[in-house]
Amino acid sequence: MTSDSASPFLPFAKPDLHAEEIDEVVAVLKSGWLTTGPRVQKFEAALKEDLGAPHALAVSSATAGLHLAMLALGLKEGDEVITTPLTFAATLNTIVLAGGKPVLVDVDPGTFNIDVERVAKAIGPRTKAIMPVHFAGLPVDLDPLYSLADKHGLRVIEDCAHAIHTEYKGRRLGSFGDTQVFSFHPNKNMTTGEGGVVTTRDPALAKAVSVQRFHGIDRDAFNRFSKAGSQVYDVIAPGYKYNMMDIQAAIGLHQLTRLDGFIDARRKLAERYDKLFADWNSLVRPRPAPFAHRHAWHLYTVLVEEPACGIDRDSFLAAMKDKNIGLGLHYTAAHLFTFYRERFGYKPGDFPHAERIGNSIVSLPLFPTMTTAEQDRVVAAMRDIFKAARG
Ligand SMILES: *Cc1c(COP(=O)(O)O)cnc(C)c1O
Repeated sequence: MTSDSASPFLPFAKPDLHAEEIDEVVAVLKSGWLTTGPRVQKFEAALKEDLGAPHALAVSSATAGLHLAMLALGLKEGDEVITTPLTFAATLNTIVLAGGKPVLVDVDPGTFNIDVERVAKAIGPRTKAIMPVHFAGLPVDLDPLYSLADKHGLRVIEDCAHAIHTEYKGRRLGSFGDTQVFSFHPNKNMTTGEGGVVTTRDPALAKAVSVQRFHGIDRDAFNRFSKAGSQVYDVIAPGYKYNMMDIQAAIGLHQLTRLDGFIDARRKLAERYDKLFADWNSLVRPRPAPFAHRHAWHLYTVLVEEPACGIDRDSFLAAMKDKNIGLGLHYTAAHLFTFYRERFGYKPGDFPHAERIGNSIVSLPLFPTMTTAEQDRVVAAMRDIFKAARG
């Protein structure tokens, strides 16, 4: 047993909530209006302004938002959506749930983002959309991606779950392009507990999301039940129950004002990890993208490859847990999971870069209130483990 096991457990992520969030949630509880209402309206207006988006629609999660955005495309059986294997299940699942086929394209081994040149080769007669994921908060190369989409008449639904306040060539994600979906899960860069927002330039998609997030009703509950609203409504489709509550928006309103502070703290820690690992040649880390960008530093990832580190990734995860340090696993390449293999015929070897990365990647602890002492503990634990592994 080392002294680490006596230290408190260090999680890989932790939300930073202040008295403002707590007081606002209490105010919601006391107000008598818990679900979608004035605070959701205010939060949507704040997000629209902050992200520079033509339309912003709050939803119960990014998964719900991706599902609704995909449904709005009206996919028919056999229609294809191009995406990356190095992502969370929700990206692929929502394509399937909306009736589409996820067509995977390997990642760039440097940035871990979808390889846009390979996207060009994967476009076929049934391709309807592209769903890029801005992995860890590093933007995908959107100019060539959008020119491909324009050339072939494809929709682009950006999975921005990692990428709130990511900038591509000086522009914030959400302020340009087709459609974006951001996540407010507690592990993400800002939180509402569970929650998400869909931003889009397309008024028809905005309208579809707005109706489908609440039972297919043409008006939300606030409009129906507040004094200003009318009780009369129409159902125009069998919709979902994907609305955000005022309890969630109460948290989000205050998180949004502190988001840049969160990202600054993450960036400082990421740059410090970079310095601390500068001469660790055994440890592969993603390379910055070769275009102007602002990274949102949702994740700080390294590859633990057995030949170089002397230990395989899964044993490394266990060894760090023994030292009371939590790590994330983002992500095992999607084509290795049972469902996608059985349904779409994917098999090991199909996407070698994503597969190699997914088999060795770990997300190190990174959150706004993390101290440099905690960070030093992570690095010291890694040094011990690698040293012991090499014998
Ligand atoms: C977290 C995440 C999602 C889902 O977000 P939820 O808000 O938890 O539904 C989707 N895609 C990616 C890449 C994610 O990391």
